[in-house]
Amino acid sequence: MEDVLVLNRVTCGVCNTTLTSMHRHDYQSCTCDNQTFTDGGTDYQHCGGKDMEAVNIDSVYLSDGFDKCRTVPIWGSYGKNGDEPLKWMSISEMTDEHLEALLHYNVEEWRKDLMKQEIEHRKKQKHAG
Ligand SMILES: [Zn+2]
Repeated sequence: MEDVLVLNRVTCGVCNTTLTSMHRHDYQSCTCDNQTFTDGGTDYQHCGGKDMEAVNIDSVYLSDGFDKCRTVPIWGSYGKNGDEPLKWMSISEMTDEHLEALLHYNVEEWRKDLMKQEIEHRKKQKHAG
């Protein structure tokens, strides 16, 4: 099975800036001479820099496991009433109600799977107490 890119992230080894591309046309670059960049969001990772040795790929894939995937930002939210500035959240930061509600939306399957896993994970935690 093909792996899924969950978070598109690189760190520039020259200026130590971490760059995250959140969606397909979200081109992010640092300002130092290496011109490290990443683009493509979770569709694909297009990254580079003058010296590729200084481009450290910190991306997260589904194969990194649920414990890792639940802690990285994968969902953009404009707040409860949709009037707040865009904020990227990890599923571990989302409320139960938010997760449940999103399962009824047209959300990519892998995101939905992670949300379902998070709901199950919380149920287990409650019972474990
Ligand atoms: Zn840099």
